[in-house]
Amino acid sequence: MSNSGKTDKAYERTLKSWAKDFMEKHPTVQHNGIDLSLQRLINQSTFDLFYGPVKDGSFGDPAEGDSDWDNYPGFQTACKLISDATKDVPSNLYIDTDAETWQEEEPEYTEKCPMCLGLDECSSCNNAGVIDLPWDAWWQVHKPDLMAMLLGKELARAL
Ligand SMILES: [Zn+2]
Repeated sequence: MSNSGKTDKAYERTLKSWAKDFMEKHPTVQHNGIDLSLQRLINQSTFDLFYGPVKDGSFGDPAEGDSDWDNYPGFQTACKLISDATKDVPSNLYIDTDAETWQEEEPEYTEKCPMCLGLDECSSCNNAGVIDLPWDAWWQVHKPDLMAMLLGKELARAL
């Protein structure tokens, strides 16, 4: 990681956009024939992790009388469902902090030299026909960091 604050912010923003996009593409998980909101399941599991157990019938259960928790399957099952729902998270994601975009494929190192057109001698690329792309805007993000962005560090670790 760069120590530039501007890049750090762009990195964070891009990763957040990726997470939002992932959640929009994976809105629900199925459990016992019911579609559960993945985001709610993540929120509830996180709550359960910190303040649970939830729905174990004990006195003062946070879920008691709260219909939001009706379909919560319990922590272990929730973790399994979240694991399944996030199996499409790539092992590596490449994010461009200049354009604030991302891709799963490794970025190109070079592009066609734009200065060569109609020239016998090109000083831009020393007649190579290609120029190196600036690499400083690309960051490779590994799956554990992507999972932490989606689920929060604690829940990602608990899966
Ligand atoms: Zn050239």
